[in-house]
Amino acid sequence: MRTIEQLLRPNIRSLKPYSCARDEFKGEARVYLDANENPRNQPYNRYPDPLQVQLKEKIAQLKGVRPLQIMLGVGSDEPIDLVFRIFCEPKEDNVVAIEPTYGMYSVCAEINDVEYRRVRLNEDFSLDAEKLLNATDEHTKVVFLCSPNNPTGNLLDKGEIEKILRSFDGIIVIDEAYIDFADTPSWLSQLDQYPNLIILHTFSKAWAMASVRCGMAFASEQIITYFNKVKYPYNISLLTQQYVSERIDHREEKELWQKQILNERTRLQKELAKLPCVIKTYHSDANFILTRTTDANGIYKSLVQEGIIVRLRDTVTLCDGCLRITVGTRKENDILLEALSRM
Ligand code: PMP
Repeated sequence: MRTIEQLLRPNIRSLKPYSCARDEFKGEARVYLDANENPRNQPYNRYPDPLQVQLKEKIAQLKGVRPLQIMLGVGSDEPIDLVFRIFCEPKEDNVVAIEPTYGMYSVCAEINDVEYRRVRLNEDFSLDAEKLLNATDEHTKVVFLCSPNNPTGNLLDKGEIEKILRSFDGIIVIDEAYIDFADTPSWLSQLDQYPNLIILHTFSKAWAMASVRCGMAFASEQIITYFNKVKYPYNISLLTQQYVSERIDHREEKELWQKQILNERTRLQKELAKLPCVIKTYHSDANFILTRTTDANGIYKSLVQEGIIVRLRDTVTLCDGCLRITVGTRKENDILLEALSRM
C-alpha cells in the first residue's frame, strides 16, 4: 500500500508554501497595516480568508463532513488541475480514466505533461472495474471516475467502484458534479474509510451558480493540507464566499429547482423518445439527457439556426449520433421539442 506521502511529487512533499499576511496573523486587531491593502472601500479592501473557515463550517454541516476535509476551488476544475500538480510527475507518472468522460481530465493531463490512459466503458456505459484496474501500473497515481458521468448521464455501479477502492492504492477521484440529480447517496459517507479518496462537488449545477465559480473537493485532512499548500492563497473571493453562504441559507430554493429539473427530465425523456428523429434516449441520473439521433450533425445545425443550442457529442467514443441535451425550464424544453418534431 502506497501512503499519501509516497504518492506526492517529491517537490510537493518538500514544498514550503507561501505564507500570506492572513496566515501569519489570525484574529481581531485594531489596525491592519500588514497586507499592503488600501484602508478605503470596506470590506472589499481586505484580502479574503485564504481558508474560507466560515463558509467551510456551513458546507461541512450541509454535507456531513468535517471542515478540515474540504478544499474550495474556482469551480471543481481547480481541484482537478491541482490533483495533477500535487501527485503526478510530468513524463513519468500516468493517470487512468473512464472513456468517454468529462473532457477536463485529459486536458489537465496534457497541460501537466502526464500520460492519460483511457479505459472504454461498456456499450451500455457501465464500468468494468477489472478492465480499468488492468490499465494501471506502478506509475499510475490517479484514477478518475465521474458518477453520474458526463456526457453519458449514468451513475457508475457502486460495486464496481468499490472494487477499485479496495484494489487501487493510488488516488481515486470520484467527480460527483451531478450527484444532486441522482437518487443514490454521495460517496461522501465513505470518506473516512478511504484515505486516498477525493470527491468533487460543485455549486455550478443544482445550485445554479456556474458563473460564481465555486467547487468543492472532499478528502482526508492530509490530502486537503496539500491542496491548501498548492492552491493560490486567495483563490475564493469575499464576494463568492458571501454569496455562496447566502445561497446555502436559502437552500429551499435550490431544492425546489432540483425537483423541477427532475420532473422536466422525466417529461423530456418521454417526449424525446416519441420523436421520429430520435433513435434512443439514454437513462439519466444528471440534468442532461444523451440522445441518439438519426443525423446528429444535421439536427445540431438546424437547431442552431433556430437559436437552440445543444451539445454535439457525435465524435465522442461510444456516442456516435448523439446530442447531449441539458434539461431546461418547461418552456425551453417545449421550444426544443417542437423544433425537433419537425426534423
Ligand atoms: N465535473 C464535471 C463532470 C463537469 O461536467 C463539470 C462542468 N461541466 C465540472 C466538473 C466542472 O464544473 P465547475 O468547474 O463549474 O465546478
